[in-house]
Amino acid sequence: MKKGLLIVLSGPSGVGKGTMYSRLLKLLPDLTVSVSVTTRPPRDGEIDGVHYYFVSREKFLEMRDSGMLLESAETVGNFYGTPKAPVLEKLDAGRDVLLEIDVKGARQIKQAYPDCVTVFVLPPSEEELRRRLIGRGTESEEQVGARLALAKSEIEQSGLFDYRVVNEDIDVAVGEVIKIIENSKRSE
Ligand code: 5GP
Repeated sequence: MKKGLLIVLSGPSGVGKGTMYSRLLKLLPDLTVSVSVTTRPPRDGEIDGVHYYFVSREKFLEMRDSGMLLESAETVGNFYGTPKAPVLEKLDAGRDVLLEIDVKGARQIKQAYPDCVTVFVLPPSEEELRRRLIGRGTESEEQVGARLALAKSEIEQSGLFDYRVVNEDIDVAVGEVIKIIENSKRSE
């Protein structure tokens, strides 16, 4: 049976990749997702097992060190990782899987699974990224500063990705990702 396609959507925090991810899932109903594991505390409205599996640091490190994660990364003080078994099972069953993860994780996946398609979402400008990070109101001023500094170093690595998409207009950006996915499936 033909394997599914692994699509990795990445880019700096605040760039709008979470919104793009939700739109892609609505527009491409055949795509499946992976629920990540994190040590970050849940935000208001986040449900364990739906938005993330919220685990302790000890549990996370145990999972990572026993090879249960496809990739893992620490970003702004918290660990995040993709559980391996569910993703590989879906790909083996011919289902496409969309991941929305940070840049370090995306690079690990590309190394381990070179057939995956990596897409880097860029902000229209640094100023716009700052506005979006402040505007979502979930982070302290210090956390916004940390996320912006990280964003700059991540943008410098965007050349390592298969594709780069600027999220100025969300509809246009999502449309570009859909084209990338369709073309990748056609050339498989
Ligand atoms: P947030 O705390 O805002 O939900 O996510 C922070 C960052 O972690 C985002 O850039 C998000 O893409 C990334 N992230 C979420 N899940 C994973 C994961 O499983 N692995 C990695 N490497 N990053 C993740």
